[in-house]
Amino acid sequence: MSEANDSQSSRADLLARHRAVAPSWLALYYEQPIELTQGEGCYVTDGEGNRYLDFFGGILTTMTGHCVPEVVAAIQEQAGRLVHSSTLYLNRPMIELAERIAELSGIPDAKVFFTPSGTEATDAALLLATTFRRSNEVLAMRNSYHGRSFGAMAVTGNRGWSASGLTPFNVQHLHGAYPFRSPFRALGPAEYAKACVLDLEDVLTTAASGDVACFIAEPVQGVGGFTYPPDGLYGEFQAVLKRHGILYVSDEVQTGWGRTGDHFWGYEAHGVSPDIITFAKGLGNGLSIGGIVAGAELMDCIQANSISTFGGNPLVCAGALANLQYLLDHDLQRNARTIGTYMIDTLRESLSRRPVVGEIRGKGLMIGIELVEADGLTPNAGAAAEVFEQTRSRGLLIGRGGLYGNCLRIAPPLSVTRAEAEEGLDKLIASIQ
Ligand code: PMP
Repeated sequence: MSEANDSQSSRADLLARHRAVAPSWLALYYEQPIELTQGEGCYVTDGEGNRYLDFFGGILTTMTGHCVPEVVAAIQEQAGRLVHSSTLYLNRPMIELAERIAELSGIPDAKVFFTPSGTEATDAALLLATTFRRSNEVLAMRNSYHGRSFGAMAVTGNRGWSASGLTPFNVQHLHGAYPFRSPFRALGPAEYAKACVLDLEDVLTTAASGDVACFIAEPVQGVGGFTYPPDGLYGEFQAVLKRHGILYVSDEVQTGWGRTGDHFWGYEAHGVSPDIITFAKGLGNGLSIGGIVAGAELMDCIQANSISTFGGNPLVCAGALANLQYLLDHDLQRNARTIGTYMIDTLRESLSRRPVVGEIRGKGLMIGIELVEADGLTPNAGAAAEVFEQTRSRGLLIGRGGLYGNCLRIAPPLSVTRAEAEEGLDKLIASIQ
């Protein structure tokens, strides 16, 4: 057998073993799933030696690039000294990272709690808000995604990701985050925002008991297809929420750390002052980290013990610190703005007249392309699947999403260069007919 045949059969074998041992609902990308075995910067290589430009970064998680030497060195150094101690002992990398994040958060008198994932960050935020407000009522956005636990699924507004209806919260879902498919889609931005605020007020008057704990929203919906309301809408929401004492939770799991280009946090596009921020994904560049930031009074309202064995782990925090430092030293937020704007403009110029393209939207390096049927609105998941295979065969990895699986998601590491962006755009544009 030739070497190429050999590696193909080992991929087929691995796929068979995956199917035998992994749950059926752990979906794999591509008709012929690939095994990524190596990465460098914005490129990854599969087990057969094929090289791809990685414009999805393991779901917006590879933030500064694959195997950035400074981050690798910090992980290796910490791994050689102490991998784990638990939160029962003083932990220098955790404290240093918490100090940096508190300072960057925009929340006064901030404290930070670390978890191993975004889901647990959502749970921690909801625990704080419901305890502080002595209420289990929560407001969330339609088409949202906040994680896979019972609590996080309860606030998620996307039925494709809500595996269970069991819920610890009483949740009302609001209009606004998905203008392209909103019942208010015919309205201009100002009228649209007004309709959404009226919807919020109507929910508070009719469906809620009066003592709602919090409102939670992603500034740009990730899993939902990189969709977002007009800038400022969530600020208008917060003005209403404040009148009722309702806390504001900004889910920054995908939008944090400058990914949206114009801002370090997604909430800043709305003039919001969040009570709680949740974060995860990009901070660890692939190390398992999440967490929440909240003002001291709110953070300290929990009266029982509550620890996370792995949350704040020294290895993970040492890597995350080096990663965050790299991001700040290289001003990757500015790069996200510059390259993101270039990419969105180029995509609009090249693709917006193609009938299959319903909408091209994006902020910084979170770029969505929604594919539709000839009527301009009906979701075209078949076309998205086709483009997806085409991009892969041209050596480009992107993401898919949206309620109907018809949105392409393009989210390179924030370190992507102009030349890499050009290469990726060429491959993407050639794949969309
Ligand atoms: N919130 C948002 C906005 C997310 O996109 C995700 C993950 N896709 C989560 C929470 C949950 O994070 P995790 O998968 O790390 O549990």
